[in-house]
Amino acid sequence: MKSSVLLIYTGGTIGMHTDPESGALVPFDFTNIYKEFPALRSLEVDIEVLPFEPIDSSNASPELWVRLAEKIGENYERFDGFVVLHGTDTMSYSASALSFMLHNLAKPVVFTGSQIPIGVLRTDGRENLITAIEIAAAKDSKGRAAAPGVTLYFQNRLFRGNRTTKQSAEELSAFASNNYPPLAEVGVSIQYNEQFIARPKSGAEFGVDTALEREVAIVKIFPGLTESILRAMLASGVKGVVLETYGAGNAPTKEWFIGALREAISKGISVVNVTQCSNGEVNMDIYETGVALQKIGVISGRDMTTEAAVTKMMYVLAHATTPTARAKMLKKAICGEFGK
Ligand code: ASP
Repeated sequence: MKSSVLLIYTGGTIGMHTDPESGALVPFDFTNIYKEFPALRSLEVDIEVLPFEPIDSSNASPELWVRLAEKIGENYERFDGFVVLHGTDTMSYSASALSFMLHNLAKPVVFTGSQIPIGVLRTDGRENLITAIEIAAAKDSKGRAAAPGVTLYFQNRLFRGNRTTKQSAEELSAFASNNYPPLAEVGVSIQYNEQFIARPKSGAEFGVDTALEREVAIVKIFPGLTESILRAMLASGVKGVVLETYGAGNAPTKEWFIGALREAISKGISVVNVTQCSNGEVNMDIYETGVALQKIGVISGRDMTTEAAVTKMMYVLAHATTPTARAKMLKKAICGEFGK
């Protein structure tokens, strides 16, 4: 039997082609996908297209994530897999958010996009699109989805969505998953790395939970950060902070810095520590600078990306009301966002 895939188009570079008359980049009509890419018929996949009003993903927001999660929820039973076409700029944020909002996914939700518009001859979008559809439709020898969960496919590699980050504004290999291996590598054939693919526990029911709290901030420390700027950020009504620190989770030990954070935490603000480094993890036991943060109640984000940390914070704040309950949720991996 043919597999079926719902292709949700949200915008971004992948959705552009050159108007032959004006030479300008104009939106591409994905509803005519078989006409544009007749080769897709050879995939033996029934593709249905759900176009959203296209946006540049710089305008992505929690409202987009809620709409995506709801549409996937409404159509979950009808399709074997889902492909989300999305601008690259914030794709990792959206994939991370969806990973927390969609529970016990036994089907693939593959995010992809492109660096060069789909209507430009040298586009990377054609391969990304076709392979993402193939992955969303693929079954393993037991008849299960080959790669369930929220993933991101780009330039021959399939990643766990909430481990990705956009690493290049120029290279076609725009995304990296520095702390978690690829779930699949694509060459002449698609090689799935089964040991890294997470599957829901048997009998666990699929569910959609769209509650998110937006009062969060990312505070990136740098030499020269002043007390007044830090205090202004912490006093802004924020309920959760992702603190981007140096190296293995280190920050200044100056009393004004630790004091401002201590006060914020005592008022109930949750603070998670992630590293500014592109790989490796936070370990607040190694240096005095990290130990000081641990002592005041800063939570280790381990090897989480900033994209995963900030969307997890939005999710956790909306699902737990007390600082203790929030800390408990933040310390545990919800869907493979940190750890091995
Ligand atoms: N600015 C575009 C976007 O994120 C870039 C892209 O799609 O690659 O929507």
